[in-house]
Amino acid sequence: MIKFVGVSKKYKNEIIAVSNINFTIDNGEFVFLVGPSGAGKSTILKLLLREEIPTTGSIFVDKKDITKLKRRDVPYLRRNIGVVFQDFKLLPNKTVYENIAFALQIVEAEPKYIRRRVPMVLSLVGLSDRANSYPQQLSGGEQQRVSIARAIVNEPSILVADEPTGNLDPDTSWEIVKLLSEINKRGTTVIMSTHAKDIVDSMKKRVIALERGNIVRDEMRGAYGYEA
Ligand code: ADP
Ligand code: ADP
Repeated sequence: MIKFVGVSKKYKNEIIAVSNINFTIDNGEFVFLVGPSGAGKSTILKLLLREEIPTTGSIFVDKKDITKLKRRDVPYLRRNIGVVFQDFKLLPNKTVYENIAFALQIVEAEPKYIRRRVPMVLSLVGLSDRANSYPQQLSGGEQQRVSIARAIVNEPSILVADEPTGNLDPDTSWEIVKLLSEINKRGTTVIMSTHAKDIVDSMKKRVIALERGNIVRDEMRGAYGYEA
């Protein structure tokens, strides 16, 4: 469970990025975060990942107020939240297999487990035949699949996707969203910020809409609601 209670964030330049944000996301939900550029979407995701700390308010992840986490406990939070970015952020000098294995090596997983687990997630994202390729040898959609595999290899309970289809064409975007939807159906909570109007309108999932740092809509089976 994720719960924002009265969360505001004022950056050093005095810009109030989000103000008095309140919402609860239950385990297993699929949520779209929408709104114009500058509305506060990335700030909310950064607050959830503890890359930023709110100016006021509390943020609970599984009943724990993450705004009060000690520095040494932050890695445990991050282990429980997989992240996917618009620009993939894969390591260019590692193969697909190595990019995914690296996420397990960082948390000191057993080599035996790594050898079993990496092929499993590669198969889940449909890239078993690309294990030995380098990121530059892959299409954008394939690179995003690798980054999704890397994000879920540690079995996080939450997957955050920050405009994951922003660099992809419409058909490829759909494939990525279907993959995220499949991962969600297996039990992972998914939060995706996006400008992809058609996708949001067709999926009929929960939509939290932001404008100028405020939640202006929070609807189950919602729509994008802005001009694309
Ligand atoms: P979105 O992701 O919806 O485009 P952001 O959360 O990135 O919105 O930005 C919300 C507001 O906060 C904007 O006015 C933006 O310029 C400002 N902002 C974002 N990050 C920073 C930062 N690190 N320092 C100062 N202002 C920031
Ligand atoms: P499910 O969630 O049942 O697996 P999908 O994720 O395949 O369904 O699709 C969810 C919604 O998106 C459906 O309404 C489907 O018609 C629509 N959709 C799927 N793929 C496309 C596409 N390439 N273009 C337009 N709409 C699509």
